[in-house]
Amino acid sequence: MEPECKKRKTRAISTFTWELRPVLSDEKLCEVELLEAYAAPIINTKQTSCLIKQLACLYPLNSLPHIKRVRTCREKNTDHALEIIICLLRDLNGTDVPNGEVSLSDLFPEGKADGIGLGEPFHVKIPAYQPLTRPQFEAASQHWPTTFHENKQVTDALQGRLFNAEKRAKMQTFMEKAIEAAKLGKEMGMEPVGAVVVNPATDEIIAVGHDCRNGSNPLLHAVMVCIDLVAYGQGGGVFNHNKYPNCHFKSLESFSDDHVINVGKPLLPSKDHSSTGAIVNGLPYICTGYDLYVSREPCVMCSMALVHSRIRTVFYATSSPDGALGTKYKIHTKKDLNHHYDVFKGLMKEECQLLLS
Ligand SMILES: [Zn+2]
Repeated sequence: MEPECKKRKTRAISTFTWELRPVLSDEKLCEVELLEAYAAPIINTKQTSCLIKQLACLYPLNSLPHIKRVRTCREKNTDHALEIIICLLRDLNGTDVPNGEVSLSDLFPEGKADGIGLGEPFHVKIPAYQPLTRPQFEAASQHWPTTFHENKQVTDALQGRLFNAEKRAKMQTFMEKAIEAAKLGKEMGMEPVGAVVVNPATDEIIAVGHDCRNGSNPLLHAVMVCIDLVAYGQGGGVFNHNKYPNCHFKSLESFSDDHVINVGKPLLPSKDHSSTGAIVNGLPYICTGYDLYVSREPCVMCSMALVHSRIRTVFYATSSPDGALGTKYKIHTKKDLNHHYDVFKGLMKEECQLLLS
């Protein structure tokens, strides 16, 4: 029989009440855009390669490298096995083709190509862009086959499978620390928002802070407090936190040997993660490779401060009406900024909503 303590432990870590979802860029979440096109069945399959060559000259589809020109026919009991994209509807602009019905002679101007081996053209919609996520790929493939370079981590994240129970248990303890800080801040008359910065490579807590905007400085949102505390730990820092004993940081000397240079790698590796943070005096540039746990979605100022300080990942619990990491903006995904980070929302959502009510 299984020892009682082991059983209890397994049950304890498998009963999370929260669900974590990635906050992806709009282009990764949007519906697949479609373009109108003409295709035709290939009746004589011996002509296939010849037809591909003819069409590559006549209608090259240069803007659609993700589209597979030929697909296998989906319907059974037809006289053909393959179908081929002839052209986009917009390729015919200016030529004398009536709306709707077209014939092969409309699509193959005399002398240039013959289209021998094709059956009657039909109307089809094809994906305008290469899919970025598996749900987009599945939707796009309903229309016409496309290429797709799957990012396994993004697929796992969308399906809520990126973090195992052990990792989720750790994440919960970090958010509990943020909630505790928020409560202590509230007792001092502050907004009930708390934040914790962690090095995910060593699970060391670097800084804990709560919102201090109702105190001496209106800019001291919980995230700003935390970033400043991390900077203090590296010998920098700007604000005076002496009045707030529950906002604290780990000092330079106290880090484990493992910590030095060993910081977290991006969770959802992609070309979006363009910046590499510098290592200064054996420590990362402010928040490089670090994770932030914050009870409420950060505002624009805080989200930009997280860009500047090179955070790796932000986990937040509840959305804010003026939130800049999913609600009003998605600053972490902005193409023209030189650092991007991953954002996940929903960690201990209910507990953090209670905190704000
Ligand atoms: Zn803020």
